Amino acid sequence: MDDLKSHIREIPDFPKPGILFYDITTLLQNPLALRMTVDRFVWLFAQRRIQKVVGIESRGFMFGPIVAYDLNAGFVPVRKPGKLPAEKVRETYELEYGNDTLEMHRDAIQPGEHVLIVDDVVATGGTASATARMVESLGGVVAGFGFIIELTFLDARKKLAGYEVASLIQY
Ligand code: AMP
Repeated sequence: MDDLKSHIREIPDFPKPGILFYDITTLLQNPLALRMTVDRFVWLFAQRRIQKVVGIESRGFMFGPIVAYDLNAGFVPVRKPGKLPAEKVRETYELEYGNDTLEMHRDAIQPGEHVLIVDDVVATGGTASATARMVESLGGVVAGFGFIIELTFLDARKKLAGYEVASLIQY
């Protein structure tokens, strides 16, 4: 998918020194690249009877609802702490330095629902696996993960072993 890759903007030292940030806004602003991205996820998961697409804050919100709409599924946001107003589940996971927490509404997933989890970039897989634990704690079935970009050298697939993982662009 090198044609999609050409729409990713690479920004060195953002948000801090040493990080090469992969910016998907340049992909989203291109009509054909946006359509190809959404269509690719829909094609990959159309047979999986997806009932909810779970998007991870904040860039999972930028295309997750379009994928959900096209799969005839609902959309569920996973957010940073303190943003969601109703009863929540939360999951804390380790980062390179320190840890982070994510929250999801308790009534967002019904037991047995088939769930697709989406985000812009998968790096270590920590964010994605924490999200899967929340979905599963509510009785949801994680049918797969969809990432626009996968940083393969960080080996997220090891952390997400046993799940179907789809990425459109690899570095
Ligand atoms: P991880 O939990 O290590 O897989 O990190 C994934 C989360 O961090 C995702 O929500 C990404 O949006 C973000 N992220 C990690 N690395 C990058 C990167 N190089 N460029 C843009 N976003 C990134």
